[in-house]
Amino acid sequence: MPFCKTYPTNATLDGQELHLGSAEIEVSDPSGTVFAAPDLIYHYIAAHKYKPPNVFIVAVESR
Ligand SMILES: [Zn+2]
Repeated sequence: MPFCKTYPTNATLDGQELHLGSAEIEVSDPSGTVFAAPDLIYHYIAAHKYKPPNVFIVAVESR
């Protein structure tokens, strides 16, 4: 797979333009376990079809 050429990588959230690649996100599941990921995880999922571990998906969906 070739390297991604979409840099800088942006995303829009609630009408706000975000520049990804220099921050971390944290999400907790119902038991209180906190997961951390680079904010580029959004791009990895949307553009490259990355599938995070199921525990991470459960935490995101529980928000
Ligand atoms: Zn990419």
